[in-house]
Amino acid sequence: MGFIVAVDGPAGSGKGTITEILAKKLNLTSIDTGAMYRCVTLAIIRNNIELDNLDKINELLDNINIELIKEDNKQIVKLDGEDVSKEIRENPVNKMVSKVSEIKEIRTKMVELQRKMAETEDVIMEGRDITTVVFPNADVKIYLDAELEARAKRRFVQNQKRNIQCTYEEVLEDMRQRDEIDKNKEIGALKIADDAIVIDSTNLTQKQVVKKIQKLIKKEKKVKKLEPKIYSERPNNTRKKIVRSIVKSFLRGLYKIFYKVEIIGEENKEKAAQNGGFIICANHINYLDAVAVVVFSKEKVRFIAKHDLGRIGILRWLERLFDVIPIKRNTQDLEAMKRCMKALKNNEILAIFPEGTRNGMEKNGKAKNGAAFMAIKTGKQVVPVGISGTFKLFSKVCINYGEPIDMTKYKIKGQEKECQEQATKEIMDNIVMLTNIKN
Ligand code: C5P
Repeated sequence: MGFIVAVDGPAGSGKGTITEILAKKLNLTSIDTGAMYRCVTLAIIRNNIELDNLDKINELLDNINIELIKEDNKQIVKLDGEDVSKEIRENPVNKMVSKVSEIKEIRTKMVELQRKMAETEDVIMEGRDITTVVFPNADVKIYLDAELEARAKRRFVQNQKRNIQCTYEEVLEDMRQRDEIDKNKEIGALKIADDAIVIDSTNLTQKQVVKKIQKLIKKEKKVKKLEPKIYSERPNNTRKKIVRSIVKSFLRGLYKIFYKVEIIGEENKEKAAQNGGFIICANHINYLDAVAVVVFSKEKVRFIAKHDLGRIGILRWLERLFDVIPIKRNTQDLEAMKRCMKALKNNEILAIFPEGTRNGMEKNGKAKNGAAFMAIKTGKQVVPVGISGTFKLFSKVCINYGEPIDMTKYKIKGQEKECQEQATKEIMDNIVMLTNIKN
């Protein structure tokens, strides 16, 4: 899989034009997925197929050949070898395409084709469900928006240039109806992905929008280059162990100068260690709380931290020294999960913030099930920790370790999800209780 830029947005938001410009500038292959749905619609019209005749639709899907190709620097859409670039933009297709794209069988086939297209190339793909369904893990995710009237005006001008007969009112009404259907589809509906960057182009020039997205792509390409470095793990040789021990003592010294640190319940870690490795689950107030847990532990504790921390030079060095496991948030980071499981099986100690982010509980965020999942799967215990303090200079910071929680009771076949939820609740309840001691 190459580098993927996913762009979603309503009709007329400028996705097509912007995508074309960016593709040329950044040497990406542009894929207009709307054109693919339009091709299928044209084929349905030409073959007089009723939209509820699924047998005929499946037969059509098995035989249809859609090509998006570049000729003389122009994007050409071919349906079974015939150039249909103009016809797919005309009224009969406009009126029907949203209805056609509601059909599950058609969506499944199109998504499969779209994923295949990105297997070997760096692509910029635009549509309605690219950031949410086709490539939820795309490198760059953009939601391009604009007010309805502005979009209709743009599309009207575009149609005039393409010699497509229509009035502004027709375009406006068609867009209003398509917006309605596209946003309310049962599958593949147009929505804003949680981690997409929304750009409203109503009052922006084309150049401004291109510049904005280009900047985002360049930034992400740099990160991708760094990624192998972030994920590489150095072997635990003697030199590394000595440097780690020196850095730990140094940081502990700094802590003692700037904070009054109190550690309670250390013996609970020893109890859990009798069962091999274990997971420390703590609340997360400040970046310094993770450092405190690591440097005040006699044992080697490996934290799981969001992977972008490792982009910063000194932090990357510290992460490697302490074998921090980087994790990508809001995605299923299988690589991170595999590393955690391996560490636990090797009887190492992991530390996780189930809140996922700083002060997650206060922000009413839902605790993540990752720690419970791993503990249940490996049969390792969880040591809950309540960290309290403001982290203002010279104030008190208290790290309170609780009794280890045995997770084997949550290993019930067929009820994995419910068990993880309950186990996470027990962990969080313990953390809250341990945090509530008076400073
Ligand atoms: O992008 P364009 O306006 O050409 O798309 C035509 C129609 O195809 C949209 O109105 C939408 O109903 C459908 N479509 C879709 N999913 C996509 C792309 C387009 O459902 N990824």
